[in-house]
Amino acid sequence: MSTLESNKETFEYKAEMKQLLHLIIHSLYTHPEIFLRELISNASDASNKVRYLQMSDDTILDRNKELSIKIEADDKAQTFSIEDSGIGMSRDDLIKNIGMIASSGTLAFLKQVKEEKKDAGDLIGQFGVGFYSAFMVTDEITIETRHADKDSVGLRWTSSGDGSYSIEEIDKSERGTKISFKLKDDFKEFSQEYKIKETIKKYSNFADFSIFIGKEKVNTVEALWIKNKKDIKEEDLNAFYKFVSNDWEDPLAHLHLSLEGVGSTFKALLFIPQKDSFDLMRTQDHKTLQLYSNKVMIMEDCKDLLPEYLHFLRGVVDTADLSLNVSREMVQSSPVMQKLKTTLTSKVLQWLEKMASKETEKYNDFYKVFGRLFKYGVNNDFVNKDKVIDLVRFETSLQKEGELSSFKEYVSRMKEDQQEIYYLTGENRAQVENNPNMEYFKKHETEVLFLIDPSDAFIIPSIQEYDGKKVKAIDKGDIDLKDPEKEEEKDNKLSEALIDLFKETLKDRTEDVKVSKRLVDSAVTLVAKADGADKHTEHLMKMMGQEMPSSKRILEVNTDHAVIRNLSKRYIANDKDPMLTKCIVQLFESAQLIDDELSSKNDYVKRMMEIMEEATQ
Ligand code: ADP
Repeated sequence: MSTLESNKETFEYKAEMKQLLHLIIHSLYTHPEIFLRELISNASDASNKVRYLQMSDDTILDRNKELSIKIEADDKAQTFSIEDSGIGMSRDDLIKNIGMIASSGTLAFLKQVKEEKKDAGDLIGQFGVGFYSAFMVTDEITIETRHADKDSVGLRWTSSGDGSYSIEEIDKSERGTKISFKLKDDFKEFSQEYKIKETIKKYSNFADFSIFIGKEKVNTVEALWIKNKKDIKEEDLNAFYKFVSNDWEDPLAHLHLSLEGVGSTFKALLFIPQKDSFDLMRTQDHKTLQLYSNKVMIMEDCKDLLPEYLHFLRGVVDTADLSLNVSREMVQSSPVMQKLKTTLTSKVLQWLEKMASKETEKYNDFYKVFGRLFKYGVNNDFVNKDKVIDLVRFETSLQKEGELSSFKEYVSRMKEDQQEIYYLTGENRAQVENNPNMEYFKKHETEVLFLIDPSDAFIIPSIQEYDGKKVKAIDKGDIDLKDPEKEEEKDNKLSEALIDLFKETLKDRTEDVKVSKRLVDSAVTLVAKADGADKHTEHLMKMMGQEMPSSKRILEVNTDHAVIRNLSKRYIANDKDPMLTKCIVQLFESAQLIDDELSSKNDYVKRMMEIMEEATQ
């Protein structure tokens, strides 16, 4: 092969690329076999791309060439190479795709390892770390490639991963890419066939193309989703899941669908992972479902197949309804896709319903991991809203920490005279349990839903009613509680006069002052107006940078409390007693203190000292 020396150009890597290389070499060494998975996956992607072109473009190079992946290894020379007949790379591709961090997965990976100081080994399963993982096992890589475009030229790329790479033109007659290198001594076993075979069985058995080592074909090429359910073994499903998702663990559950005739014809194999290692709430660019048309992959990550709240699913959907000759953009806007999405969504919801009733523990495991994303269906899926509401789960005041209940279960446990469904929002279980507004409910053993996940606050406004019963926050003013022991207190003129003094004293700082029915042990509490946002929601909005004008609250006073009774006595003796207003302000601010809303600690403590001084005289 002649090399045109004048064509050889050297390029410097960007700083983040150097970081990535460093990270890969120094933190992935516990999982060296990853490089093989990544190279096969790239070869398979490149073959998929060209298979798609073969059907739509008749000018491409080597149009009828068979698509396969060939691995050669020589254990004496300690060399390894992998060759595909895929789409190949142009000079631009080499610079943009290989010379820079192109994959969002790689970037996300890099960020997580850096920011969260996680063990890289735990993360690589979820992120493709890409081509550069080969630098774990070698010091220098050569890529020889030619793009499928008929006017392309052959190119050789070389780099020792130390800060620069070079590209030169070469003679290469056939389309595709060959990657070759010499293995470092520590990793020389990857030049042995048995080791390569073993690794392929583990990670790449379902690659859609034949993989050869020398002349021997080593993988099973089959579209598992086409087979009959009864012919598929659990272990094949698990292996297939790992292949499509890059996960290391088995899936939590799978759904195999085969629909014919009714609106859309398709087959699908869907999986729920056990863990959300990618953090679906933060990263929009994680992968979802692969779209196939008659076993040919059209899109590797087709987000339009499912509404966003179901994007925790992985797997494949294969439909014969899409014409292969249409462009990818047209695929996205095709009415076939809309039908597919509707059907898939309702099938997935049915599946989850069944799991929730028949395999409750499994469902709850799913909910604990993906509930945060899933529950947004309440707001975002108008058609299936009621189904999603039935699948939403909460902890409750009468159940142990970590146990989950549905609205339906809550309603089935409601007391005969209970008309409404009660909830309380907060940051965590301890905080809601100790909220003074819980006192009435604890005393009467009335169950309260605990909305302690941040996204709960966003969906609850869309759930006004369930099963004909109003859904009410127990820290809002409009709640109608019955407490026979407190009925007589209501008409007590004395407490009314004292309440008026509260109102007068706090008129600029509260919306209103009322006799409380929800307090048992505490003297006072602050509640939101019926139409006001509770403080937890205000806090969340603030965190998200959406400042809400903080609304004044209603102060509720427990007229059974010893301090309030004592104040009443003082009031009868002398309604101008300065101790009265001092205590009223102190009570109000102590309720603010509990809610983390106290503005001046100094004033508060100063006043407390004055009150203590008088009490200790
Ligand atoms: P990822 O595969 O996650 O995008 P990689 O670092 O593995 O990240 O690869 C970067 C890009 O390089 C790929 O997206 C692809 O465009 C290109 N590439 C890598 N290997 C090949 C190959 N064998 N044939 C054609 N293109 C390739």
